[in-house]
Amino acid sequence: MDKPWRTEKDLAALLLARSRRRRTSIITPDTAVLIANALMHMGDKPTRDEIALMLCSSHCSTPCYACMARANIVAAAYGVRRD
Ligand SMILES: [Zn+2]
Repeated sequence: MDKPWRTEKDLAALLLARSRRRRTSIITPDTAVLIANALMHMGDKPTRDEIALMLCSSHCSTPCYACMARANIVAAAYGVRRD
């Protein structure tokens, strides 16, 4: 049986739509692995300040303006962990 979604975003939209209609979703073991891995790594993202310090070539102790500006670009593209 073909899966009813092509991308991870399709899967998320499908699950959200069923949830909004209060419908149960039944997933295959392969889809369960995909979802479990995504959930397992959800908190792995760094904070924006941590990204800034990773990018800092001056080894600042607190994020400097230039590094924070670059960190904002990375954060906007990939998301960050919010503590
Ligand atoms: Zn810096």
